[in-house]
Amino acid sequence: MSQERQHKTGFETRAIHAGYDPDPTTGAVIPPIYATSTYKQDGVGGLRGGYEYSRSANPTRTALEGALAALEEGERGFAFASGLAAEDTLVRALCRPGDHVVIPDDAYGGTFRLFDKVEQAWGLAHSPAPVDDVDAVRAAIRPGQTKLVWLETPTNPLLNIGDIEALAGVAHDAGALLVVDNTFASPYLQQPLTLGVDVVVHSTTKYVGGHSDVVGGALVVRDLEVADKVGFHQNAMGAVPGPFDSFLTHRGIKTLGVRMDRHCDNAEKVVDFLTSHPAVGTVIYPGLESHPGHEVAQRQMKRFGGMISFRCTGGEDAALKVCERAEVFTLGESLGGVESLIEHPGRMTHASVAGTDLEVPADLVRLSVGIETADDLIADLANALG
Ligand SMILES: *Cc1c(COP(=O)(O)O)cnc(C)c1O
Repeated sequence: MSQERQHKTGFETRAIHAGYDPDPTTGAVIPPIYATSTYKQDGVGGLRGGYEYSRSANPTRTALEGALAALEEGERGFAFASGLAAEDTLVRALCRPGDHVVIPDDAYGGTFRLFDKVEQAWGLAHSPAPVDDVDAVRAAIRPGQTKLVWLETPTNPLLNIGDIEALAGVAHDAGALLVVDNTFASPYLQQPLTLGVDVVVHSTTKYVGGHSDVVGGALVVRDLEVADKVGFHQNAMGAVPGPFDSFLTHRGIKTLGVRMDRHCDNAEKVVDFLTSHPAVGTVIYPGLESHPGHEVAQRQMKRFGGMISFRCTGGEDAALKVCERAEVFTLGESLGGVESLIEHPGRMTHASVAGTDLEVPADLVRLSVGIETADDLIADLANALG
């Protein structure tokens, strides 16, 4: 399908067709895994199709990058070896030592660690601010010094919601760019670039890949000048995915829409169950009217996603027991795969923020609701909660 035609198609059509046309020589419907590091040149400097070395570009990765750009309705997509590699590359592309960024005060633990331990040592300052408080984000900006406002929405693991359009205005008024980590929502549920955001970040390890079989990251940008800087740094820093990882991630993308709908259906049923259970305190899900970000989420998201957090009335011990007793829900880090996962953020994904302002409650349990039979998920939780 021509690029022009693709832009007019719906999300699921783009997910399946964008980035690749059947191979002209063989007719292969799916992009081959181009396991090659280099390419024969037709005379010195005479490149076929622009490929010279696979750090710079590889056809399997090109197909994935085209699909990523189309899903987020961006100008260009870039694939990386992990979400954190994407983040680091973006920071080096757009910031310099002495600059400052505003980050969520409940950022993904690895993102916080990257800014706190790695970028800070390079000379980049950061300030945490709550994403659901526009005035607090504005107040955290240092005029002239802040280059990026970094947003996650929903956040991990507390599922706070940031108002993307409002925060884009706040960042742009201060001459900064707004970056949205769209990992939790996925491009099926939320397309930040269409709401004024400059760069979208993904850990494609999660919903985009969707099968817990590959680690990867992505950046999608809407401005060609930013694209040039990111493209230069992608090649210069070299944190790129190999062709097999690119293939797996691209394969996952094709079913993103149907998977996300099932994740949402199941999450809604699990939320219904949890809200009436006596061993469960607060249930945190943006789809609940009681969630403080519900209205904003309704405005900027198609549905509310597959992530749920809840607090146990029995405290930390009870939370640990639920995690250990669950069987259909696998005890494990990560999220966004077809299988349901359960974890204790305080001791697992967010252990690195213990003792800081970003510490999460000890009685908190996080669920990544998969696409299994909903009744089995509910029965498993009923059993684990005792
Ligand atoms: C997992 C995750 C990351 C980091 O991605 P990796 O692929 O693990 O490097 C960043 N942001 C969010 C929201 C995540 O869940």
